[in-house]
Amino acid sequence: MNITGIKVYQVDLPLHEGNYSWSEGKSVAVFDSTVVQVETDAGVTGFGEVCPLGPVYLPAYASGARAGIQELAPQLIGLDPLQLQALNLAMDRTMKGHPYVKSAIDMACWDILGKVAGLPVCSLLGGRYGEDVVLYRAISQRSAVEMADNTTGYRAEGYRRFQLKVGGRPDEDIDRIRAVREILEPGDKLIADANTGWLQHEAMRVVNAVRDVDVYIEQPCATYDQCLSIRRNTNLPFVLDEVIDSIDAILRGAADHAMDAVNIKISKFGGLTKARQARDLCVSLGIAMTIEDSWGGDIITAAIAHLAHSTPTEFLFTSTDFNSYVTTSIADGAPQRVDGRMAASTAPGLGITPKFEVLGDPVWAC
Ligand code: MG
Repeated sequence: MNITGIKVYQVDLPLHEGNYSWSEGKSVAVFDSTVVQVETDAGVTGFGEVCPLGPVYLPAYASGARAGIQELAPQLIGLDPLQLQALNLAMDRTMKGHPYVKSAIDMACWDILGKVAGLPVCSLLGGRYGEDVVLYRAISQRSAVEMADNTTGYRAEGYRRFQLKVGGRPDEDIDRIRAVREILEPGDKLIADANTGWLQHEAMRVVNAVRDVDVYIEQPCATYDQCLSIRRNTNLPFVLDEVIDSIDAILRGAADHAMDAVNIKISKFGGLTKARQARDLCVSLGIAMTIEDSWGGDIITAAIAHLAHSTPTEFLFTSTDFNSYVTTSIADGAPQRVDGRMAASTAPGLGITPKFEVLGDPVWAC
């Protein structure tokens, strides 16, 4: 089977809450998502999606994803989409770095592989553990009172794991953490995610001030070494995210005992092929994971569900249903949250059918 064409669509994804805000005053009101369609000479078509969290979260931005795909895609015509390792090697030989550019293409080829095999992608990624997977709800940065109110609302919808967006002023963040933990029940999990927003002295103040609180600390500072310093000075469970972007980073973190859990985002690693490699390594190392992406709509949510559902349950710390945060549905068949949980589709491939009336015409094709 050969790739015969690649089409690119652009779609805006507004948010139910109006905007999503996190550390250092960063905020997005409308997400700019890119959908990739990979066509083959067998008449099988696959779909993928990539959606950076604005241009200041990771070294990735929406129009950059599309520019990179336009550079890369013509070199992939004639390659076999079923040979995913070979395809990834070809992408890496054609373009150094830029994992987010490659993510939607790789995702679309997994969709093709599943359709050809007649199997859901989760089966091809390792199996299906349990009936469904546990989700967290990101609590956008607001005042402590508003964040506690919003957490109460999402808890009523069935969520039991909450990721507070902190990384602001330390005194306000301490209030946010205490106010939200106050309304939670035993067994609920609370993660304070600073998204690199604290300097070391600020992070030390926060972890000292909440040392009696049942809370995880996620990515307090910008660099690995700064995070490691905080890690070595707190007993709170510790998650690394932004600095965990490669196999090397996971191995170094494991050797240093730098974290208890990591966040595996599909596009941060460059697609499902490399995210699966990272996932399997973490299972071997005994490291729990949040499995998700930077952001996205129905197609990314489907891909997340397949990777999360094929992860041994005890290693899946949390996952994300981004399609419930946004007002626009771009595909039928994507997972729908029930009581703070979701399940991967049992249909072949990713199990989604794009809504072309929403996607519109391709913005580019080769
Ligand atoms: Mg995070």
